[in-house]
Amino acid sequence: MEIFIYTIIFIIGAFFGSFCTLAVYRIPLGENIVYKHSFCPNCKAKLTFKDLIPIVSYIALRGKCSHCGEKIRIRYLLLEILSGLVFLLFALSLKMNFLSIDLNTIIYFSLFILYFVSLFIIAGIDKEKIQVQKSVLVFGMVLSCIYMIYVCIGKLDVQTIYTYIIYLVSIILILIIDIIFMKKKNYENYTMQVLLLSIYMMIFSGSFNFYLTVVLALIGILVGNLNKEKEKMPIAFYLCISNIIVIIAYNFLCNWVIR
Ligand SMILES: [Zn+2]
Repeated sequence: MEIFIYTIIFIIGAFFGSFCTLAVYRIPLGENIVYKHSFCPNCKAKLTFKDLIPIVSYIALRGKCSHCGEKIRIRYLLLEILSGLVFLLFALSLKMNFLSIDLNTIIYFSLFILYFVSLFIIAGIDKEKIQVQKSVLVFGMVLSCIYMIYVCIGKLDVQTIYTYIIYLVSIILILIIDIIFMKKKNYENYTMQVLLLSIYMMIFSGSFNFYLTVVLALIGILVGNLNKEKEKMPIAFYLCISNIIVIIAYNFLCNWVIR
């Protein structure tokens, strides 16, 4: 029974991974991510259902487009597997017991799944274009508000409310600064985007785990860019990947080791 449910979680993760690769491609182009048909970038043929099953389609088609035979980048397959694994590991790290699962756990799990998906998309776009897409950040802010309300309903204490007020004030300040400076020429709003992303991460992972995220991201940046002479580094990409690792590792530690 447990294995069956964990398999389903992996499959859902793979589907989300497939959705993320599509979102990373389309969002910067301003294309619709829901309604528009998927097509092969080479022959422009519309993809049918049998082309779109994550992992299975890739293997069944031997990594080639079923219409023109053009090779599909293996990266898509790897990202789908990776996304499935992240979902699976996260569920395992929570030590979810599906026989006695309560609504509270389901909401918590769903909120974090949406959080991870937004980080996947932010990371993917940042890696390609060195920018954090505003529409994804807006989604993040809405999700943050829902999460904060969820936490406050669970346990209402002064410390939590105080922290959340600081987060909200910081977000508003960043947005104001962003609007004021946006009018100036050559204004680089990447810094503001990364700051907003940082607060988004603090809300979901807590400040301590955010510090760990920064340390891990810095190590990643150091190792990943040692031999490159790039002008710009995808800072948000490193932050997102680090944050996902830290959250899952922290949950494993809390639910499996300590207790
Ligand atoms: Zn094709």
